Amino acid sequence: MKLKPMDIYKLLPKTNCKKCGLPSCMAFAVRFIERKVGIEDCPELNTAKYLKQKLKLKEIASQYLKATETKLVVHEEKCMGCGSCVIACPPNVSVSLEASGGKGPREDVTVLVVKDGVVKPANLKLCRRFEGDIETRPCTVCVDSCPTKAIEFL
Ligand code: SF4
Ligand code: SF4
Ligand code: SF4
Repeated sequence: MKLKPMDIYKLLPKTNCKKCGLPSCMAFAVRFIERKVGIEDCPELNTAKYLKQKLKLKEIASQYLKATETKLVVHEEKCMGCGSCVIACPPNVSVSLEASGGKGPREDVTVLVVKDGVVKPANLKLCRRFEGDIETRPCTVCVDSCPTKAIEFL
């Protein structure tokens, strides 16, 4: 599921009261998608009047909130720990064969690692999707290399 700012905006109070420190509810929605603000940062949403909207927002955002800073979601129940994504990841490949295999002790130098039979995020700062505009850095190598669709980017 890809969340867009409009999906968030629809559930905000839409009063543009600026109590969150942002110029508008749409600005809040954009920052929410960027994971720079959360539900608790909108004082209006946390009043009884908007309880229903708050609960709905929590519900649709729950998977999103579980995602990493790079918006990576691992569906562990689908992952068989094959390591294809780890091996294919370009920053991993550039480190060493051992590291790119995801089985070595160098979690600090790889983006993903296989641990206890499932893939886990390791050093996300090395990922091509870390920070910056994701639209201009659309690396999908790990997702494309997964045979079971166990990983996705929101
Ligand atoms: S505090 Fe909430 S209602 Fe007010 S502008 Fe920010 S997001 Fe909109
Ligand atoms: S998006 Fe690219 S750089 Fe980031 S983990 Fe996946 S393959 Fe590696
Ligand atoms: S996420 Fe996919 S490619 Fe990566 S280890 Fe799990 S099953 Fe293999």
